Order: sequence, then C-alpha cells, then structure tokens
Amino acid sequence: MRCVKIPGDGRAITPTDITTESGQPDKNQAAGLQSIFYGLCACGFSASGPGKGKWFEYMKRMIDLSQVSDGRLYSSGDMVRADCRDCRGCSDCCRGMGGSILLDPMDVWRFQTGLHRDFQSLLEKEAELGMADGMILPNLKMDAKSDACLFLDENGRCSVHEFRPGLCRLFPLGRYYEENGFRYFLQIHECRNKERGKVKIKKWLGIPDLKAYEAYILSWHDFLEQCREGAGSLDGEKRRILALYVLRTFFETPFRAGKEEEFYSEFSQRLEEAGRTLGF
Ligand code: SF4
Ligand code: SF4
Repeated sequence: MRCVKIPGDGRAITPTDITTESGQPDKNQAAGLQSIFYGLCACGFSASGPGKGKWFEYMKRMIDLSQVSDGRLYSSGDMVRADCRDCRGCSDCCRGMGGSILLDPMDVWRFQTGLHRDFQSLLEKEAELGMADGMILPNLKMDAKSDACLFLDENGRCSVHEFRPGLCRLFPLGRYYEENGFRYFLQIHECRNKERGKVKIKKWLGIPDLKAYEAYILSWHDFLEQCREGAGSLDGEKRRILALYVLRTFFETPFRAGKEEEFYSEFSQRLEEAGRTLGF
C-alpha cells in the first residue's frame, strides 16, 4: 500500500514522502508520483475525463449531450427521473470507477468533520492522488481486489452515506458547465435501474444550503479552469509548483470550519488569497 506523509514543516509533499506501509521509502511509487508531478498536461484534459469513468462533469466544449443524456438541462428546482429507490442491492456505481470520483475541498472537509478523518489518513486508505485537468487532485480509490470503493460495506451499502462526496450525491446526474454557471443533466446509460422515480434535484442532492453549495462548486470549477489555462503557458517545473500549491492550499491544509456555512466562508477566503497569489 502507498502511504503519503503530509510534512508538518510547511513544505509540500514530494515523492520522498511516499513510503511503504512500514515507513520505508517506496521507490517505485515515488517514481510513479514523480512522473505525475512532471507529467502535468498542458492541454488540461484528464485521465478522469469523458469515457474513463461514469461520474461526469462536463464543460460545454467537451461533449454532445444528446449522446449521454435525455437531451435536457435541469435546474435544482426541477423534477428529474433520478430516484433509484434505494438501489435495491445494486452497488454498480460504487464499483469499477477507476479514479473518476474526484474529491473537492468540501468532500475532504466533510470526511474531516463527520468521520474525524484527516486528508493524510484518507490517502492512506480510501483515497489517492491523481492527475485531473492538469492539477493533482484526490479521488476515491477502488479496492485492488474487489474493484469497489473502500467505503462500500459488506452489504453493498455506502458506509459513509451522510458524508458521501458531492459526485456520489449527484449520480446519476451530471453537471454541465456553461459560460456563467452550470445546470444538471441526467445520464441515461450509467444506472442500470430503469424504474427510477421522479425527484426534485434539490432533494436528491440532500445539501441544506444548495444555493451556497452551487456557488461554491462553480467557484471551485472556475478556479481550476483558470489554473488549467494559466498552466498552459508555464514550463514543466512551474506547472508542478502550481499543482502542488493548489493541493497544499485546498486539501493538505485542513479547514478549521465546524459548520457548512463556515466552510463556504473559509473556502472563499482561501480562494481570494490564491487568486491574489496566482495573479487571477
Ligand atoms: S447504478 Fe443506479 S441502482 Fe445501482 S447503486 Fe448506482 S444509483 Fe443505485
Ligand atoms: S463514497 Fe459511498 S456512494 Fe460514493 S462510491 Fe463510495 S460507497 Fe459509493
């Protein structure tokens, strides 16, 4: 198993912080992460983009919606046929997802406050780092043997339902980003349950202050887009520094917030500071 040590002295993680379970340097894994660090892709298109996973977030330029959806775009107040009625023993969308279930800063904060799990402990078990849109971002890891999410319990149920990540809440919906916002769409090929009921998107997501959450999601998405665009003009070493800065600022450094509204405010402050630092 790969372990990543988050340095306590303020520096960002490096390949030498990657060890085996016994704490010995893991040369193979370190080399792997080094190639991640140095392989930052200027085009910004990620291994978790369309076609490689089932958890979709699309920008306008990426897809033909008619291929993957019912052709409609929805707002959070709309009813949509997404309710799989407790899934009835199916756990397909928690298996075989590769690295496509990306975590955003709020997901990590939820695990931190709800499960008392810090970022490093997640990386030691249920999550891993990967490349996504030119950034180094965490994603849920699939078990090496069963190819299932490590939060899936022995009964095929999500053991962290209350604190599940945003993309898990969304499924089988996706987000479709437009010029000044995003709307939702229904993925038609991904959930095998064809008897789904209609549900209001707001209820399906189960997020108390959905307006604030949507604003947060949009600002995080826009920030990553700006990083991706900015990275295109940087050399490899500077892109590496940018990616590590984002990882450190939004994931490695724990949020102090105890409540959801406090998280949004703290996130906004970090975003503003990051924008100033990066010249956005
Ligand atoms: S694929 Fe559909 S029915 Fe199966 S677990 Fe996922 S949402 Fe539920
Ligand atoms: S966190 Fe829960 S809902 Fe999400 S993939 Fe894992 S088991 Fe499934």
